[in-house]
Amino acid sequence: MEQIKNYINGEFVGPNSQRYLDNYAPAYGKVYSKVPDSDKIDVENAVAAAKRAAPAWAAVSYLKRADYLRSLSKKILERLDELAKAEAHDNGKPYSLARNLDIPRSATNFSFFADTLTHFHGESFLTDATTARPAALNKTDHTPLGVVACISPWNLPLYLLTWKIAPALAAGNTVVAKPSELTPYTAFLLGKIANEIGLPPGVLNIVHGQGPVAGHELASHRDVRAVSFTGSTATGQKIAQVAASQFKRVSLEMGGKNPNIIFADCDFDKALEMTVKSSFDNQGQICLCGSRIYVERKIYVRFRDALVERAKKLKIGDPQDPTTEQGAVVSEAHMKKVLSYIELAKTEGGKVLCGGARADLGDTNGGANRDGYFILPTVIEGLNWSCRTNQEEIFGAVVTIEPFDTEADAIELANSTRYGLSASIWTLDAERAQRVSREIEAGVVWVNTWMLRDLRTPFGGVKDSGMGREGGVESLKFFSEVKNICMAVTK
Ligand code: NAD
Repeated sequence: MEQIKNYINGEFVGPNSQRYLDNYAPAYGKVYSKVPDSDKIDVENAVAAAKRAAPAWAAVSYLKRADYLRSLSKKILERLDELAKAEAHDNGKPYSLARNLDIPRSATNFSFFADTLTHFHGESFLTDATTARPAALNKTDHTPLGVVACISPWNLPLYLLTWKIAPALAAGNTVVAKPSELTPYTAFLLGKIANEIGLPPGVLNIVHGQGPVAGHELASHRDVRAVSFTGSTATGQKIAQVAASQFKRVSLEMGGKNPNIIFADCDFDKALEMTVKSSFDNQGQICLCGSRIYVERKIYVRFRDALVERAKKLKIGDPQDPTTEQGAVVSEAHMKKVLSYIELAKTEGGKVLCGGARADLGDTNGGANRDGYFILPTVIEGLNWSCRTNQEEIFGAVVTIEPFDTEADAIELANSTRYGLSASIWTLDAERAQRVSREIEAGVVWVNTWMLRDLRTPFGGVKDSGMGREGGVESLKFFSEVKNICMAVTK
């Protein structure tokens, strides 16, 4: 069975302890490879390699750094099909999604930050002389931090890992990355790609392993100057505590419980089309998925019935089948968690309108998916806003739907959780769209669309969904130290 290796100082090495974790292919419920169960020593080795490589990498010209990033982007696209198949196998997501979203976006992350880097600049201020002081030229420099950590989750494995690695490298830092132990495979391939393009040893290091062990050792390492983290709110809180005690810079992209607000004056077909996607894409395992759907009462029954109809028709199947729309969820434990929330919803008074159970793929695909972790897309109604089902992140293809009467009610419902990542509003009334958008407590509000991303925009959450912003220059600033140099100017 294949053993995934850590990528340290340009070499593929096993964990110091020689211990490996099982890596499952979720669509088959079977172990298909082994992941290093790295510990403190592996993290020490990776951080030491990154530290040795840091001065030389920081001295590489920004144009040359951008070239490296473009080469990484190009190689990812050359291996698009292989990477998409690997991501689908490792994560359970449909190959079509990995091919059309995850992997192209991973390539774009590198090319985008190569471009952004070439436009990244400091500022200068000419300070006038007064009787008390001479004139001065003030300028701000952005300098690399040194060694930084990038810790990412399993739902968009290569996409989110590269969204951090690319700006970190662009800004002149060396990186130790820790992908999710549940989906390590494409990160392993990224290490190979880094070697193929000749990225200098130690500039990018990838350590696999369990969050509370390898992840914790990395986040708390004294030589790591910043931690960019995407994952659950509970883990983000732990990382924030570790970082605070060391005055370490930290960026946290965390959980969500996003509302979709659908007004009666929306374009019904577009709202429905996109709500199907925002509810069930990637089996509902996108932090931006809309899991609470609030529909104006005038169109509630029509919209609810149409959504249920569409949910029932989604094609569940083997991720590698290009016609599959719903793959498997990432793990058995996650499947059990999602199913337990459906049971909870029932005890809280919810009525399951469709789905509500594990999907049995039986003899289809020669019975290969019989043990896979598939869940039927689920729509639940009749729940109070305050119940746990409507307050806690489920992170699966489970949505709740409820009617509302007034704009004020919709806003109150939207803001009724501790999360604040994103929201979608559907209305053709531009003034209402503006009004409601301003009132919604979220880092991103989409109007008449969903998950339409411009990588130059600041991305992140409010409340328990996040701290800091990623994207465009925000990411480059996060990964840079800013220094003010003030030079007196005398005639
Ligand atoms: P998780 O928090 O369990 O793990 C995320 C990463 O952190 C993994 O690599 C894990 O190994 C590591 N980790 C775990 N414990 C750690 C510790 N104590 N110290 C350091 N690292 C540790 O999250 P997950 O289950 O992999 O991902 C799902 C979560 O991610 C959901 O809550 C989802 O909303 C969130 N998410 C957020 C965004 C966003 O942009 N806000 C995007 C994607 C996913």
